[in-house]
Amino acid sequence: MHFKSVQYASPQGGIKLMVTGAVHGNEVCGTKAILRLMKQFESGELALIQGSVTFVPITNPLAYEKQQRMGDRNLNRNLYPRADPQDFEDRIANWLCPLLADHDVLLDLHSFHTGGVPFALVGPLDNAHRLEPFKFAREEEAMARALGVTRFVDGWLDTYAKGVKNRMQRQAKGDLSVDDISADIKYGVGTTEYMRENGGYAITLECGQHEDPHAPEVAYNAILNTLAHLGMIQGRTVTYMTGAEALSLCEVIDKDAPGDQFVKVWKSFDEVVKGEVVGHRESGEAVCAPFDGLIVFPNPNAKPGQEWFYMARRTHRFD
Ligand SMILES: [Zn+2]
Repeated sequence: MHFKSVQYASPQGGIKLMVTGAVHGNEVCGTKAILRLMKQFESGELALIQGSVTFVPITNPLAYEKQQRMGDRNLNRNLYPRADPQDFEDRIANWLCPLLADHDVLLDLHSFHTGGVPFALVGPLDNAHRLEPFKFAREEEAMARALGVTRFVDGWLDTYAKGVKNRMQRQAKGDLSVDDISADIKYGVGTTEYMRENGGYAITLECGQHEDPHAPEVAYNAILNTLAHLGMIQGRTVTYMTGAEALSLCEVIDKDAPGDQFVKVWKSFDEVVKGEVVGHRESGEAVCAPFDGLIVFPNPNAKPGQEWFYMARRTHRFD
């Protein structure tokens, strides 16, 4: 098993774009789109007029071979190089992180299990806080608008960190007695967060349901749109999305006990009103929506002490 990247570089130099597929092994729309584009670069049908693009068709070859989300663990969490790699994903990180750090922009292509239309996950607004300082929000937003999708989500690392803080407080008070507590803020760092931490900007594009035959097309168009947006190819007109749906993740509710159960099969982006019962604790106590908003990333199979579901609010960021 090996790691593979292919770079096409214009003699003119310029922006260094990286495009990744199959960070999760069962999410292959990006892989298909990348291989299709590589053929076009090889045949001369496509040519770069400036900059370079590095394709990583299969970022997690172990998970890809297993046709599963993860190899030994989720590559898109706790993504840092390690002097003492413990599992296969640590070894990927030791190869992938320096490659990411050597680029300016990342488009990371994924697909999802349930949850409607394709969407882009973007980073925070410009800020100088400790958690995720950033100064390319404008560039990232412009690229997001170019991708060809109509739904945008932000607030990932902030909300993840809030969840971690909450877990640590509850553990200190003795309210939470689980072994496998997800209590490390850095655990929320995946490809895009690593990229921002290393001076670049980055978008995760969720191209559709895993089996959706349109997902590879969404990924393919997004790559072409990104290349055109960055001025790297000629002959493609980019339409910038306005008046789009913008959501901000702002709460995470953990599973406390194995018997905690949802009242129904929630999908990402299902709407709920404040006080609506989302699930019940093992004790029978109702778990209600904390505000009018949307359920995101519901996970009925979460373990105690892990994220059960996220809540997002509508914003005007992509008006
Ligand atoms: Zn994924």
